[in-house]
Amino acid sequence: MKKENAQKMQFGHFNEFPVGTIFKGRMLLKHLGLHFHIQNGISYTVDDAADAIVLSGGYIDDEDRGDSIVYTGMGGRSTDGRCQIQDQTFTKGNRALLLNHEQNIPVRVFSHVEGISSDYLYRGLYEVNRCWLMPGQDGFNICRYQLNKIDELAFVHPDHTHLAEKNIEHEGIVLPTKRKTTTHSFIVRDIKQTRKVKNLYQYACQICGVHIENFRGKKHADGAHIRGLGTPHHGPDVSSNILCLCPNHHKMFDFGSIVVRDDLKVIDLLSGQETDDYLYIKDDHRLDREQLQYHYDFFTSSKNTYLDEIA
Ligand SMILES: [Zn+2]
Repeated sequence: MKKENAQKMQFGHFNEFPVGTIFKGRMLLKHLGLHFHIQNGISYTVDDAADAIVLSGGYIDDEDRGDSIVYTGMGGRSTDGRCQIQDQTFTKGNRALLLNHEQNIPVRVFSHVEGISSDYLYRGLYEVNRCWLMPGQDGFNICRYQLNKIDELAFVHPDHTHLAEKNIEHEGIVLPTKRKTTTHSFIVRDIKQTRKVKNLYQYACQICGVHIENFRGKKHADGAHIRGLGTPHHGPDVSSNILCLCPNHHKMFDFGSIVVRDDLKVIDLLSGQETDDYLYIKDDHRLDREQLQYHYDFFTSSKNTYLDEIA
């Protein structure tokens, strides 16, 4: 690993740069820590997921439909980058992007501004929903990734005075048109916290014990916040507020179709009946039981006007 890459990788949004911000040149992206490299499409360090990608627009196998992108991995190209002359493998940046898929970590996506090849548009966070290896149009194997944009709340428009304070070149950054200020701000999740909990349970669901494996045998689970991070809950992003759940139980928990009673019995809220399951908590997982109580109260309270609003 090059020394210049030893800086800390930051996943997710940079709050000062909303979706739609335009950056004048790859150097600026690197300088701001938004993308590690000047030439690679994939921004990565050894043994971690990728934090960002740049769509080159030059790869014949890429498909860009806005919110849905099929992205081609790196490597095996001719020196002019025009065609594939060797097979790609899931190594280096391609492996990093595979880890985004396996660990459910979103990636920042940048692409050229149409007509101005030196300008880069921040398109937002995308999930890596699928990855596979297939022969490309030049006949060599290429790594392919299905990326889908994450729906999210509007940003609070950033105050850029701190850029001047940090001595960051303010020129070369074009912010999107100022939006109406909202009370919502996007939440940057602390991936380390959810990883910690998932590792503790070895990716097995705390309700049903199931874990999902992908085609490489890599385990998958969701890190589920007990008290949600967004409005109206404003829960903390700490391991004591996170459960390791399978995707089904995660959704059921988020939707309030199940709640956990104070004896840890899982209740089906639609029928009001007990299920056969208990929430399993390991001794070394210091769970905040007040957050479980909050979740229980929130969904069982008939006076909750928020539920009426979304009904
Ligand atoms: Zn489950």
